[in-house]
Amino acid sequence: MHFKDLPLGATVQKNLAALGYETPTPIQLEAIPFVAAGRDLVAIAQTGTGKTAAFALPLLEKLCIPNALVSNKAVRPIRCLVLEPTRELASQVEDSFLDYGKGLGIRSTVIFGGVGHEPQRQVLRRGVDVVIATPGRLLDLMGERSIDLSHIEFLVLDEADRMLDMGFIHDVKRIIKALPATTRQTLLFSATMPEDIRDLAKNILKNPAQVAVTPPATTVELINQSVTFIDQSQKRALLLHLLNSPDVSRALVFTRTKHGANKMAQTLEKAGVSAMAIHGNKSQGARERALEGFKAGSLRVLVATDIAARGIDVDGVTHVVQVDLPEVPEQYVHRIGRTARAGKSGIAWAFCARDERDLLTAIERTIKKKITVQAAPSSLPTPPPEEARPPQQPRGRGRPQAGRGPRTSGPSRSPSMSSGPSSPAPAGRTQSFRPGRR
Ligand code: AMP
Repeated sequence: MHFKDLPLGATVQKNLAALGYETPTPIQLEAIPFVAAGRDLVAIAQTGTGKTAAFALPLLEKLCIPNALVSNKAVRPIRCLVLEPTRELASQVEDSFLDYGKGLGIRSTVIFGGVGHEPQRQVLRRGVDVVIATPGRLLDLMGERSIDLSHIEFLVLDEADRMLDMGFIHDVKRIIKALPATTRQTLLFSATMPEDIRDLAKNILKNPAQVAVTPPATTVELINQSVTFIDQSQKRALLLHLLNSPDVSRALVFTRTKHGANKMAQTLEKAGVSAMAIHGNKSQGARERALEGFKAGSLRVLVATDIAARGIDVDGVTHVVQVDLPEVPEQYVHRIGRTARAGKSGIAWAFCARDERDLLTAIERTIKKKITVQAAPSSLPTPPPEEARPPQQPRGRGRPQAGRGPRTSGPSRSPSMSSGPSSPAPAGRTQSFRPGRR
């Protein structure tokens, strides 16, 4: 099957060819015909399967057809709303809309917290066709009546299970209540289908088509996984030891807490390893700088918490290091899936302290295999001294760390994490009305 076999117009086909997309991925093959036919859809698919194009491509085609009921409006009404759990994902999805929709004249914008409200209000006043938003800021704008969602024809709930994990489900329900119900086409994408999402789907979708794809099995098979039993206090030293190898050219390091991520990045910097932390307490600007540096290769190590790392699509991650094991076993699979992308092999190291043994057992049960044990080296480097600790965060899933995001301000331009640096929109290109984007 080729893209030309799917109901996509010549402009979109040309854009896909320019992006180097040759054949549709399974989720695209399955979902696009349903979306094009106007069906509601439940799709089980993870990041990395090409799910963004699976909804963005047919929706862009639909948005090219003017809605007769609203086409006489002075300002373009918002016709399509995409809800995303994190700012990074929202930015990435907007970049995809821009790339896929180049030349269609469709305007999109991204709405998320952590940046000023006013530029977002201004963009909305000028009129856009597509809004890609995180729930918190969207609700703020809805509350102050800066956004009119009464003409929404297409709703995408992306990464619905993640929204649930992050405590957004009530916000999402409030947003959906404010949208037109009868005329709306709704698409729900989720990596897993927990009970709450199943219930939500029942309530908001009309006779949905269902599609499911599993991530390419080879992804995990290509990852060389090992675990090292190590005292908690020795984890920094072990990481420094592993980073001595020049083979570790781009490493994503996971910690359980935001404080742990900061501390680890500081340790590495002091030891001469270029590293930055990325998590929900960082300003938008700091997150973007970290991602850009990691992507460009000027940062060798990115230290992340799970939610911040979700949706980061950086090619060429050679190593994933789990300094702390995740509380939720499935997260282990998401984490290691950051390496060995695009058919490349990758290495995943996990550190397991005495009090994490149960977590390891749960992970091994989930992945249905024993992870090879790698002995700790007999001598480890002495890490630089730590700085004074702020109060410790409680252990456990607790209140989600990203939530509505910090209210600090910073530049709003987000890097495209999937397709190289993006340039200012030339004339005729689908326009971004992301505030601050020129
Ligand atoms: P997603 O699952 O939407 O986050 O996409 C994962 C990555 O796959 C992104 O870098 C996309 O640009 C890329 N991608 C999506 N569809 C295709 C395709 N049909 N051919 C090649 N790359 C694709």
